[in-house]
Amino acid sequence: MSLFQAEGIAINFGGIKAVDGVTFSVEKGEVFTIIGPNGAGKTTIFNLMSRIYDPSEGRLVFEGQDITRVPPHKIAALGIARTFQNIELFEHATLLQNLLLARHAHKKSNFWSELLFTPATRRMEIEHREAVEHVIDFLDLQQYRDSYIVNLPYGVRKVTELARALCTNPKLLLLDEPSSGLNVEETEDMAFWIQDIKNLLGITVLMVEHDMSLVSAVSDRVLALNYGRPLAMGTPSEVQSHPEVMRAYLGG
Ligand code: ATP
Repeated sequence: MSLFQAEGIAINFGGIKAVDGVTFSVEKGEVFTIIGPNGAGKTTIFNLMSRIYDPSEGRLVFEGQDITRVPPHKIAALGIARTFQNIELFEHATLLQNLLLARHAHKKSNFWSELLFTPATRRMEIEHREAVEHVIDFLDLQQYRDSYIVNLPYGVRKVTELARALCTNPKLLLLDEPSSGLNVEETEDMAFWIQDIKNLLGITVLMVEHDMSLVSAVSDRVLALNYGRPLAMGTPSEVQSHPEVMRAYLGG
């Protein structure tokens, strides 16, 4: 069984078919990437998957469960985490506080047990701290743990976004243009982190990405879109050399 399936999903914006009957499945343990020229519908698919938008047609299935109408705030509890293209962290909190907040938002405890700080709450608090420290170690963020986000370089903030998503223990990680705003060296580092997340943590990744060097470095399979429709699917090199894809990118 595929980890995630999109079956004939579609959505219109005032007459524009932003996504027009797209079907694909993401297999456990792979990095699946959606590419396409500007306006192809990549971000819209991403927002449909993270349940920001409701599809007008089609179905979304995660681990065999229909999630087409599951609201966005319930998605993390199912095991789907996302990052944002334009980084959405609490800038005036430390890196550690941001990650702890992500854990707390993910696993809510009872108001009274928290107030009374019962043994169960204490145990859960230790569990949160251990999980967060593990992610900080994994992504090599120790030196920044007590820094305020606002003082961190952009590249470190992007990795912190990854860290925040990992703190919720996802089965599927959705990455929205992980290379956006990064220089060449930082993009190479991002490729290593994505590979480690897949190979060492066994987390399945679905990403939308423009940078073809990153796409080629990390993707097992690529889906190319244009005008909201699938153009080609295959390995990164198969898709990049596909005549329809070349035509869409070159506009000829
Ligand atoms: P880019 O690479 O430029 O980010 P994209 O492939 O992510 O492009 P989308 O942002 O998904 O493309 O847009 C697909 C189409 O839907 C475009 O024509 C866009 O103008 C339109 N669109 C997307 N979101 C909306 C919206 N909220 N309201 C109206 N039109 C929208």
